[in-house]
Amino acid sequence: MNPVDTQTKTAPLDVEQIRQDFPILRRKVHGKRLVYLDNAATSQKPQSVIDAISHYYSHSNANVHRGVHCLAEEATEAYETVRRKVCQFINGDDPNSIVFTRNTTESVNLVAHAWGRKFLGKGDEVVLTVTEHHSNLVPWQLLAEDTGCKLRFIDIDDEGRLRTDHLDEYITEKTKLVCMGHVSNALGTIHSVRTIACAARAVGALVFVDGAQGAPHGPVNVETLDCDFYAYSPHKALGPLGIGVLWARRDLLEEMNPFLGGGEMIRNVSLERSTWAGVPYKFEAGTPSVADAVGLGASIDYLMELGMENVRTHEKQIVSYAMERLAELPFIRFFGPRDPADRCGLVSFIDADIHPHDLGTVVDQHGVAIRAGHHCAKPLMHRLGVVATARASFYIYNDRSDVNKLIDSLLEARKVFGL
Ligand code: PMP
Repeated sequence: MNPVDTQTKTAPLDVEQIRQDFPILRRKVHGKRLVYLDNAATSQKPQSVIDAISHYYSHSNANVHRGVHCLAEEATEAYETVRRKVCQFINGDDPNSIVFTRNTTESVNLVAHAWGRKFLGKGDEVVLTVTEHHSNLVPWQLLAEDTGCKLRFIDIDDEGRLRTDHLDEYITEKTKLVCMGHVSNALGTIHSVRTIACAARAVGALVFVDGAQGAPHGPVNVETLDCDFYAYSPHKALGPLGIGVLWARRDLLEEMNPFLGGGEMIRNVSLERSTWAGVPYKFEAGTPSVADAVGLGASIDYLMELGMENVRTHEKQIVSYAMERLAELPFIRFFGPRDPADRCGLVSFIDADIHPHDLGTVVDQHGVAIRAGHHCAKPLMHRLGVVATARASFYIYNDRSDVNKLIDSLLEARKVFGL
């Protein structure tokens, strides 16, 4: 299938049909239909992904890149085919620019170690944003401690959009790298990557994009985003847990140090020293998660068949409806941009009288799975002046009936607390 064709085909998602593909959505929770609204944490998996993993273990299981036997060749071909698919999915031009990791977190750590520790030092600055998930913050803090480089943070406006009006105050001649989320997991804001990348380019800085909440929810084109690194977690995009993606410009991968040492990542080894394999293998030490890669391939096929533009349109409609319904509840305050065009399919909110954790527990009794907490974005919670929020995050198998169920269960929570 040609992914370019499927990305341009526009058609509304057939949610009823899609639901049939997800066995877990047939189960009940506390005797109620499962309304899964925790997709920003991880998505559910279609039968085709589950089958692909099972088929791999039943038919082709072997270690990759090592054997000369039939199964080893099949496993290697399956694994490398997925590298090519991922490259198409994010519109990269070179499959060898795709490194398989365990998740977004590992991808960030890889770059912080392999690029950051080689190229940054005292006097250099890394610019982040106050909205970052801990995964795209802590590795840079560790880097700053080790190298003496300094971290700076772009602030947000009242609607949770990055302040791009004074970028020259943050991004200066000292800036060597800008690290930003594509989409905020706690606010839902789709960040203006291109604007910020443009400011970074003007001072010769590189751009790292944490795409954990971007890639699953709409078309990604690393060329038009104008970034140098893009990381995401396939488990949030219908794929299996346990495999992550890092895309980087090939020349950067070439000049970076290895991350983990061990088998597979070497060209030659003597007792005293070793030399490194070419990219991307230099960054893939040890036995990779081959079955998860195969599952990732199946998840990309599924999403491409739907068309990522259609996924985006669907989420925009559903989040728009969710905000409309939440706005009817005077005790609810939600965060992030009001304009659905600026946000992905999630909404973060608080009830004026009920702690988000209590809210999460009560709505769960009605079969509604939401997330409550700081969403691994403690500095952002602090910036918003709250300790936690409740978050409903939608995906391709959610529709208005799920939003209605959420609203009904929020009203039930009020009753439970005598409000
Ligand atoms: N960044 C963002 C924006 C996220 O939402 C998440 C997951 N919640 C991560 C990074 C980390 O992803 P993972 O746990 O798969 O490494």
